[in-house]
Amino acid sequence: MKTKTIGLTPDQKSAGPLDRAVVFLGPPGAGKGTQAKELARTFGVPHLSSGDMLRENIAENTPLGREAKPIMERGDLVPDPLVLHMIARRLDAPDCAHGCVFDGFPRTVAQAQYLEELLKQHGYKRPVVVHFAIDPARLLRRLTGRRMCKVGGEIYNIYDHPPRVPGRCDNDGGELEQRPDDRQEIVAPRLQAYEKQTAPLVNYYRRLGRLHQVDASRDVQDVSRQVLEILRTAR
Ligand SMILES: [Zn+2]
Repeated sequence: MKTKTIGLTPDQKSAGPLDRAVVFLGPPGAGKGTQAKELARTFGVPHLSSGDMLRENIAENTPLGREAKPIMERGDLVPDPLVLHMIARRLDAPDCAHGCVFDGFPRTVAQAQYLEELLKQHGYKRPVVVHFAIDPARLLRRLTGRRMCKVGGEIYNIYDHPPRVPGRCDNDGGELEQRPDDRQEIVAPRLQAYEKQTAPLVNYYRRLGRLHQVDASRDVQDVSRQVLEILRTAR
C-alpha cells in the first residue's frame, strides 16, 4: 500500500514543544485524520481520536466501553456525558502534559465549551482550531472515486489518480474495487449529516475569531505546511 509521508523542512523539525491542544475540524475524507497523526508524531504528543478512544475502551472492556458498546452497535451517537468523561480521563494521563491533537472532537458547541473549561483546568492555553475546508463536490469525488487494489491495497482515484488501465492496478494488475462505504448513496448522506451537525461549531469558533482554515483540497504535504504555519503564528 502506498503511504505518503509528509516531508518536513529542517526548520519545521525544530518547531519545539507543542505545549497546547490542537483541534482539527473537518468532514470525513478531508484528510484530517492523516494530518492529526502526522502532527502528533512530529511533536511527540498523543493523537486523540474520539472514535478510536471509544473503540479502544470497548476492546479493553472498560466500564466506559461496556456502556458505549450497545450504543455504537445500534449506530447511535454516543451521548455527550460519556464522551466528555472519556476525554477528561484521557487528559489526566501524563503523555498529554505537552499537548495533544484532537481529531473528531468536539462536534458540538456544548462539547467545545466543555473542552475549553477542561483545558483551562489542566493548565493548557486555549486550543488552536484548524478547519479543513474543502468544496463538497470535490470531496464527494475524492471519496466516491476511490478504488483499492484487491492484491496490494494500492489506492487510486478514478478522477484524480486513475490507473493506466481502467479497473487494474499499475503495480500488480490486481482488480480495483470500491469499498462499500465509499459508494455515493452512503457517502453523500454522511457528508450532509456532518455539515448539519458541525456548521454551528464552525460558526462558533469563527465568531470568536479562533477558526484557522486550511485548504484541504491541496495535497498532503501542502496541507501539512499550512497546518504548521498556523501553529507557528497562532497566539
Ligand atoms: Zn495492486
